[in-house]
Amino acid sequence: MKRILILLPLALGLQFCTYSQSKKQTAMEPSNQNNPVHSNSDTSNVNKTDAEWKKILPADVYQVAREKGTERPWSSPLENIKDKGTYYCAVCGNPLFISDTKFESGCGWPSFYQPVSKGSVIYAPDNAYGMKRTEVMCGRCKSHLGHVFDDGPPPTGLRYCINGVVLDFKKAQEAEKQYKKEN
Ligand SMILES: [Zn+2]
Repeated sequence: MKRILILLPLALGLQFCTYSQSKKQTAMEPSNQNNPVHSNSDTSNVNKTDAEWKKILPADVYQVAREKGTERPWSSPLENIKDKGTYYCAVCGNPLFISDTKFESGCGWPSFYQPVSKGSVIYAPDNAYGMKRTEVMCGRCKSHLGHVFDDGPPPTGLRYCINGVVLDFKKAQEAEKQYKKEN
């Protein structure tokens, strides 16, 4: 009995930890304290070596962003959210997508039909694994984000299939909500 009493707070602590971690992913303030290049407004190009990135980025972000990994489908808390706001690059803070262009694709990853602007993402042919795909990278730091396919909805017909782990979501400002209420 004594042992159970000792273990119980531990188990509860772990649960809380998991909860706060998943919450952190959708929270407004990502943890970028150790990342000197992270900025939501600086558009200057970022060129760092993978060794430098490895020191700065969390392991799961590094694996997708710099090693072109893919997170497990349906694993991102960002996949189903419908809140208004902006999706930024989790590596450098560059604005990538807005919630208005997000749609439910059923593919298991956050999906958008259009990036914020033409330069916000860049593209490269990806012929790995015997597939002809188009890789999508951050226009500022060239981190791997995901792929774009031509089976998306109007108006673009494109489906940007993006790993949630390399996205930081920030809800729209209260001011914007107020503006929409008034108009
Ligand atoms: Zn970036």
